[in-house]
Amino acid sequence: MERQIREYALDIGFDDIGFTSADPFPQLTEALEERRIGYKWVSDGLLQLSNAADPRFVLPSAKSIVVLIYDYHKQAYPPELANSIGKAYQSRLYPGKKRLFGSRLRLFKDFLQERGMEVGVRPAMPERQAAIRAGVGSFGCNTFVYSPGRGSYVAIVALAVSGELEPKMLEASSDCPDGCRQCIDACPTGALYEPYKMDPLRCIAFNTYGTGNFPGAPEVIPVEIREKMGSWIYGCDLCQDACPRNKIRLEQKLVPDAFLEKRAPKLAPTALLNMDQRYYLEFVQPVLYGYMWEKKFLQRNAAIALGNRNDETAVSLLGRAMKDPEEMVRSYTAWALGRIGGAASKKALEGALKSEDSPAVKAEIVSALNR
Ligand code: SF4
Ligand code: SF4
Repeated sequence: MERQIREYALDIGFDDIGFTSADPFPQLTEALEERRIGYKWVSDGLLQLSNAADPRFVLPSAKSIVVLIYDYHKQAYPPELANSIGKAYQSRLYPGKKRLFGSRLRLFKDFLQERGMEVGVRPAMPERQAAIRAGVGSFGCNTFVYSPGRGSYVAIVALAVSGELEPKMLEASSDCPDGCRQCIDACPTGALYEPYKMDPLRCIAFNTYGTGNFPGAPEVIPVEIREKMGSWIYGCDLCQDACPRNKIRLEQKLVPDAFLEKRAPKLAPTALLNMDQRYYLEFVQPVLYGYMWEKKFLQRNAAIALGNRNDETAVSLLGRAMKDPEEMVRSYTAWALGRIGGAASKKALEGALKSEDSPAVKAEIVSALNR
C-alpha cells in the first residue's frame, strides 16, 4: 500500500512522501504553551494548532499521517518580485478548487479514499513536526523544514488517515553546520531570536498578512517593524535566502515562470496602492490569493514599501491613497508620507488632515507631520 501511495503521489507531481503514526506531538503543545503570547492567534484563533497537536482531533479514527512534500522552486521567479513577494506566495500553492495545487490534493485524497481510508485535512496540522517524524526533512535554525536535496523552498501537507501505514518515528533533527547563524543575522527585525525560535509578532512575513487580519493577532503593525519591512508586501524570504543549505538551489539556472513574468509589473507596490476591486480580482487575487482576503492589506503593505523606498516620486500616488475609503490604507499611507518627508509630502498630509474624520488616521497624520 505504501508503495502504491508513494508512486501515485510522485505521479501527480509531489516530490516526496513520508508516513508516520498519528500519535500526538506533545513537544508542539509545550512550545505553544511556552510562547503563549506570540502564538495566541495560532492557539485560540484561526488555526487552533494546539488542538491539531493531536491528529485525532482532526480525524478521530486517525492511525497514520501521510506527509507530502512539494518543491516550489522549479521555475525562476521574476527578479522584480524579489524582496517583495515571498516565493511561496508567488507559487500559487493554494488548495482552492480551481487551483492546480488544490486539484493535486483532491486527486490524492480521492486515491486514499478509494482504498477505504478516511482522510482528515485541516487548515493546520503540525506539518513541520510531522515531516520530521516521517523522515522527509530536518529543521533549520530558521524554523523551516529542509527536504534533502531540495532545501527549504518546499510546501508540506500532512493528512491524517485512518489506514495503518508503516510509520517512521524519527526524532527532531537538524543538519545545520555547527556555529552557523546566517539566518539569524539576516533577519532584520530580530524575529529569529535564537536558533529554532521565532517570534511571529516580530516577523515581517506574519506582519504582512497576519496583523490586523487574523483573529487574535495584533491590529497594528508597530512603527519599528514597518521601518524594517523594507520592500516586502507579502511574506519574507530573507532567512531562507541567506542559508547555505539553500545555496545550490538558489544558484540553479531555472526556466522563468512565464505567467509570473507577465504579471510582475501588475504586482508592483505602485500598481497595488490605488487598485480598485476589479483590478484586484482580475490581476492580483489569482496570484496572491491566500491569507489576505481583502485588498486593503496589500494596499497597506504597498504603502509601507513605498514609504521605506524613500522615493519622492511616490508622493503623488500616496497623496491619492489618502482619499482611499479604507481607514487602514489612509493610516499607513500617512505614515509612509511622513517617512518620505519633504514639502510635497507635507502638503499632501496637511490637505488630508482637513477632510479626515477618523481619529486613528488623524493621529497618524499628526505623527507624520511631526516627523
Ligand atoms: S521571514 Fe523574515 S522577518 Fe521572519 S524570521 Fe525570517 S528573516 Fe526574520
Ligand atoms: S542559515 Fe545556517 S543556521 Fe540558519 S538554517 Fe541555514 S544552515 Fe541552519
